[in-house]
Amino acid sequence: MCRHLGWLGEPASVASLILDPPNGLLVQSYSPRRQKHGTMNADGWGTGFFDGDAPRRWRSAAPLWGDVSFASVAPALRSECVVAAVRSATVGMPIEPSASAPFTDGRWLLSHNGVVDRSVLPLSPAAESTVDSALLAALIFQRGLDSLGETVAEVGAADPNARLNIMAGNGSRLLATTWGDTLAILRRDDGVVVASEPYDDDPRWEDVPDRHLVDVSPGSVELIPLKG
Ligand code: GLN
Repeated sequence: MCRHLGWLGEPASVASLILDPPNGLLVQSYSPRRQKHGTMNADGWGTGFFDGDAPRRWRSAAPLWGDVSFASVAPALRSECVVAAVRSATVGMPIEPSASAPFTDGRWLLSHNGVVDRSVLPLSPAAESTVDSALLAALIFQRGLDSLGETVAEVGAADPNARLNIMAGNGSRLLATTWGDTLAILRRDDGVVVASEPYDDDPRWEDVPDRHLVDVSPGSVELIPLKG
């Protein structure tokens, strides 16, 4: 399972969200604290952020800890909305930059933490890679993010072994689901972090129960139970 993080709030640097925290995505790439499946996330990483309305991405198939160029530039990348992930590839899946989240349809950035049987997903020419997560992202983009909860419940019903934790942002809204893995929310004074696991020991982190949708927009955080 991978680990991912979303940010919605005042402009924050990518480094302050994923590289600097004591247990941020950088440390989670080699030593996650709550990961149930897999021990490391060394098969790639990706950072997406909004530059005005435009989603921008930097993705790699190498471990995050080895990327000195990213470490140098990340403090200068500031955004109101960030979606980032470190990857532990599911057995049999390709390891290539285009298989690393976040995926995009040009409006949303989306990460999948989990696994799904590709035979329950439609083949899509829009998928960026043959990895299960890219096929799932293409389906979610095609159905529309307003239907994220329904799409996750439907795919979960088609593949009862699927784990479907999604993180998606569009610059002014952050959506996340729990379906088989951990997720936590930190409400800071300057914005909201939603992450697979807490990046520090701040007592304000709240765990999200399984099979829920988290819907964050400026000034609001909603938790909605998913069907199934
Ligand atoms: N199944 C996806 C992949 O292979 C996600 C893996 C994960 O969450 N660890 O990349």
